[in-house]
Amino acid sequence: MDRVFNFAAGPSMMPLSVLEKAQKEMLSYEGSGMNVMEMTHRGSLYLSIFDKTERLFRELAGLDDSYAVLFLQGGATGQFAATAMNLSALGNCAGYLDSGNFAHIAMNEAAKYTQVACLASTRDINYRSVPVLPEGSIRPGMSYVYMTTNNTIFGTRYSRIPDTGDTVLVADMSSNIFSEVYDFTRFGAVIAGAQKNIGPAGLTIVVVRRSLLGHALEITPQIMDWSIMDKKGSMLNTPPTYAIYMAGLCLEWLKDNGGISEIEKINIQKSALLYDVIDSADFYRGAADPSSRSRMNVTFFTRDADTDAKFVREAAESGLVNIKGHRLVNGLRASIYNAMPIEGVERLCDFMRKFEKENR
Ligand SMILES: *Cc1c(COP(=O)(O)O)cnc(C)c1O
Repeated sequence: MDRVFNFAAGPSMMPLSVLEKAQKEMLSYEGSGMNVMEMTHRGSLYLSIFDKTERLFRELAGLDDSYAVLFLQGGATGQFAATAMNLSALGNCAGYLDSGNFAHIAMNEAAKYTQVACLASTRDINYRSVPVLPEGSIRPGMSYVYMTTNNTIFGTRYSRIPDTGDTVLVADMSSNIFSEVYDFTRFGAVIAGAQKNIGPAGLTIVVVRRSLLGHALEITPQIMDWSIMDKKGSMLNTPPTYAIYMAGLCLEWLKDNGGISEIEKINIQKSALLYDVIDSADFYRGAADPSSRSRMNVTFFTRDADTDAKFVREAAESGLVNIKGHRLVNGLRASIYNAMPIEGVERLCDFMRKFEKENR
């Protein structure tokens, strides 16, 4: 069976060795005669998987017990509301950096539960670059400032984390968590869907400073209350058991490959290869402003929409699939998360040069 190089924005490619390990353990996990998805989440066998996954996550992120690491469901989208429900009572207004479609949705979702202020936006230029936090825009009494570290649809990334002083900083890291080194202690909370860099869909990760817990709005559903979920070890109800197991295998893979600082080097190299091809000829045009370019989602165009469509078609015939851009940008998007090997990116670069020659 030939595998393709899958450039999908999420769910996305998984490391081959992880899939093989899961396959090997499919019928009987460590001699139990059961697959992980058949196990009770309260049993010691499953709990050892859960604990190992949390331990690996904490080790890779560099987090001690002053932070809770929660394994939840409902996606990053569920956490857009949960963020406001759990943290808005820390102040009178939440500040948002409107850097992309997901940030915009998060801001609108939060507005159902708290006063929000848009601190900066690049919506008027279709999010081609990330908006910087304007000096003096954080008002006294703000509950938190919210940002999206990598904007999946537009292919942009914050190269510097804004300084919010004493005000709590919250980040949606769904599309670049563990792809580069972050000092997690700079954030009061981090939310991330797992399906881009951590594992399969179905698992949502929340990292939150424990000193911020205990302020959830009264209307907060139990499963969205970070404080309750922390007390219950993410097991108020049935957690996404299999997705957590798979995430554990992915984190083990990441650790075995040198951890985040090593994968970051490879990610820089991978994205540079693609941007070099885009910049080296008139034929391709990057969608994002060079100052804000993402290392995870490389967005670009050929000459016109018909040629873009032809590119997508012919790339797929060469085993390079899911390169069509999001409808808010159109054009092309190559998502190159941690599990995309450098050979996949090299293959895409070769294809781009060939396609250019044939269609110039
Ligand atoms: C994919 C993505 C989301 C949405 O995640 P779901 O898990 O589908 O809710 C939110 N924010 C960012 C930055 C994303 O890339």
